[in-house]
Amino acid sequence: MSTTNLKEQQDIQSIINKKGLIIAGPCSAESEEQLLETALALKTEGKTDILRAGIWKPRTNPGGFEGAGVKGLAWLLKAKQQTGLKTGVEVATSKHVEDALSFDVDVLWIGARTTVNPFSVQQIADALKGVKLPVLIKNPVNTDIKLWMGAVERIQKAGIETIGLIHRGFTSFGNTEYRNPPMWQIPIEMKRQLPNYPMICDPSHICGNRENLLSISQKSVDLDYDGIMIETHCNPDAALTDKNQQITPVQLSQLLSNLVKKTAYSNEESFLMELENLREQINHLDEELITLISNRMKVAKQIGDIKKKSKITILQSSRYNEILERAIKKGDHLGLSKEFITSYMEGIHIESIRIQNALG
Ligand code: PEP
Ligand code: MN
Repeated sequence: MSTTNLKEQQDIQSIINKKGLIIAGPCSAESEEQLLETALALKTEGKTDILRAGIWKPRTNPGGFEGAGVKGLAWLLKAKQQTGLKTGVEVATSKHVEDALSFDVDVLWIGARTTVNPFSVQQIADALKGVKLPVLIKNPVNTDIKLWMGAVERIQKAGIETIGLIHRGFTSFGNTEYRNPPMWQIPIEMKRQLPNYPMICDPSHICGNRENLLSISQKSVDLDYDGIMIETHCNPDAALTDKNQQITPVQLSQLLSNLVKKTAYSNEESFLMELENLREQINHLDEELITLISNRMKVAKQIGDIKKKSKITILQSSRYNEILERAIKKGDHLGLSKEFITSYMEGIHIESIRIQNALG
């Protein structure tokens, strides 16, 4: 039976839209005992809004535990009945949607390996026609923001009104600090384009370990995210999937208590005055920066003119490398990262070339 009752629908919609939403539960539903023990402990700790559990597990390599399947949904329903917690599962096919609905699951989410594939997302969207429950969409494994946006559009077109976004990091080669580096600029851009959609951080899949969970969660609070989805297991070391990143319900409670809460606004007069003052400085500096960049472009144009006259190529890689190296060194002295200077200089260089190209 799906969530058809209007009151229940409104309840779950307001839970999804609440600031500070907490979704917790094991990476995978492994057994009835494991799921019930975890769910009851989460309920006792009192901070969880939605109990998550993976039922079908998209494993990178075959042969591992691939999820309990439909019998896991029966355990999840039992956990819901015993704790009163709402439930959420990952769906990757239309059959998953159908099965989840028949076990009264309250929220569905689309995993990172599915968001990346428009065929699969469309199949899920088709299965959701006429259904009223919220759908959360994880970022795709790759850094293609358009795929993430496209998945939102497909689900929206199916008539789903409550859609949330989950940031779980992006695949990279050879990064040792994070399992999936967060690349915050992508979810920040997504938030800019879709300001009314809740953004939820999944620190578990970003970190891949327990040590960095607090700092990533705190960063999401600092960036005004709306909630956290975090893997929680009654006995993490014995977990069948993702054991290095799961924490106990008590550890989750501690982590949440250690988070420094932030708000987007304050009415306190001294804060507002100081903020206004600093923002004015920023506006002023931005104006100066743009004027300086424009002056730099005028010189680039003069160089373009003399190159054209002397029939010299516009692009001169060795000169660009020299400029970049100097800028990185200077930036380093002034506390600016190599990554920032590189992308800033790239932008400047592209614009210079555009201006020199326009000379014909
Ligand atoms: C999960 O949430 O357990 C999961 C499989 O995550 P992701 O889709 O982010 O890899
Ligand atoms: Mn997992």
